[in-house]
Amino acid sequence: MSNINLSEISNLIKKQIEAYKDDIKTETIGTVVSVGDGIAIIHGLDNAMSSELLIFPNDVYGMVQNLESDSVGAILLGDSSKVREGDIVKCTGKILNIPVGEDFIGRIIDPLGLPLDGKGAIEAKDYRPIEKKATGVMDRSSVNTPLQTGIKALDALVPIGRGQRELIIGDRQTGKTSIAVDTILNQKGKDVICIYVAIGQKQSTVEDVYETLKSYGAMDYSIIVSATASNPAPVLYLAPYSGVTLAEYFMYQGKDCLIVYDDLSKHAVAYRELSLLLHRPPGREAYPGDVFYLHSRLLERAAKLSAELGGGSITALPIIETQAGDISAYIPTNVISITDGQIFLQSDSFYKGIRPAINAGLSVSRVGGAAQTKAIKKVSGTLRLDLASYRELEAFTQFGSDLDASTKARLDRGERTVEILKQGLHETIPFEKESVILYCLVNGYLDTIAVKDILRFEHDLYRDLDLTEAGKAITEEIRTTKALPQDLDRLNAYILDFKKRFN
Ligand code: ATP
Ligand code: MG
Repeated sequence: MSNINLSEISNLIKKQIEAYKDDIKTETIGTVVSVGDGIAIIHGLDNAMSSELLIFPNDVYGMVQNLESDSVGAILLGDSSKVREGDIVKCTGKILNIPVGEDFIGRIIDPLGLPLDGKGAIEAKDYRPIEKKATGVMDRSSVNTPLQTGIKALDALVPIGRGQRELIIGDRQTGKTSIAVDTILNQKGKDVICIYVAIGQKQSTVEDVYETLKSYGAMDYSIIVSATASNPAPVLYLAPYSGVTLAEYFMYQGKDCLIVYDDLSKHAVAYRELSLLLHRPPGREAYPGDVFYLHSRLLERAAKLSAELGGGSITALPIIETQAGDISAYIPTNVISITDGQIFLQSDSFYKGIRPAINAGLSVSRVGGAAQTKAIKKVSGTLRLDLASYRELEAFTQFGSDLDASTKARLDRGERTVEILKQGLHETIPFEKESVILYCLVNGYLDTIAVKDILRFEHDLYRDLDLTEAGKAITEEIRTTKALPQDLDRLNAYILDFKKRFN
């Protein structure tokens, strides 16, 4: 008999069983059944999640969109011509992530975070999922800090606060992009990180925006996410989500961000295209039923965080293009109802030379008033009324009939209001100067200036405010207190003195 102790052997076996590690990995794989137009239909992938990242051969990635009983529909991100029928697809168990970080500032990237400006790789500080639930109610604070656009008509009539969502809506070529770009230019030195997301724009438009931002030094605090008209629909679909994911990275560090979605009409069209290719049932105007949710879950991610979470914010300026001024079409009404107000641009004003072509009657801001500086609030109270009564009376002037004095006064004021609210491209104005010129307007100092001289008066006044001691003291006081000067007599005296010198 051998002297091996049987219990020793069984102990040994037991230990080995305990130490046994099951390191077989199971992978969910499937096979491509059909592919085309940036869409793949895949058989298998039983455990796939919605929005899960998929890996195709040749380093092509995809994202799960449709989960059906016997197949999965996915959008392809990358060169879809490398994917063939019969290819093996692997699940990753992860929601699609994009790289984020400070190094993205100053760069042009595609919706997956890859550089498009030929300036080399960008170092990622972190990765964040592109689809995320928006910040909850308890984690938010109300909008309380202004986001100055530097555009008189906006700061006075439709003030925007940090954390607000304000829609820019209008027909084609009415200055929508210009308003957004000028707002970015005006954030210089104001500690706001700006993200311009181009969705379905022409390559040349994106190039123009980049050149403008660069020449005004705005690329130092801006990022451009570009999905141009030449990109397939899935890439366009992702672009705004990538943009807001980057913005959230900064917001959760307590910083303020401004994000422009230029434009969501083209985003909706891209989504309709990929939904139809995925055989989802078409609804109104052939858009899929969840097109409202597409934009609401995007725009809800704009927020002003509570002080406990650092107080950062994302202000969103989505852009919508209308057809013949029809704001009651499907996509415009959806986005109007999701945002906190809209800036409505009108082609006929634009062609008449009233630029920016803001329709004061249809443009509103539902929360920005709370964030407006005291100075601007004080001088903008009657502007909307002045403009409205001017529009009503404008028709009479065409008859050239005799007008009573009060009607004539209202017309004169209206004409000057329209003139003052005109503003050239990229000529943003600090709020202290805006307050002074609007103060002149609403207090009748301009009533005696001929309409043709109004713009010159404005420019000379700004120069005078910069150069004279009295002027500098006034702007300095408004800048620091954010209110009109305590001693209004001093302001009145200054304006009267300037008027005497103006000729
Ligand atoms: P699209 O529908 O093509 O996107 P858009 O509505 O974005 O057009 P912009 O591209 O911003 O319009 O502007 C159209 C043209 O009007 C541009 O050539 C721009 O330079 C000019 N423009 C815009 N705003 C002003 C302004 N305030 N003063 C003078 N010109 C302006
Ligand atoms: Mg545009």
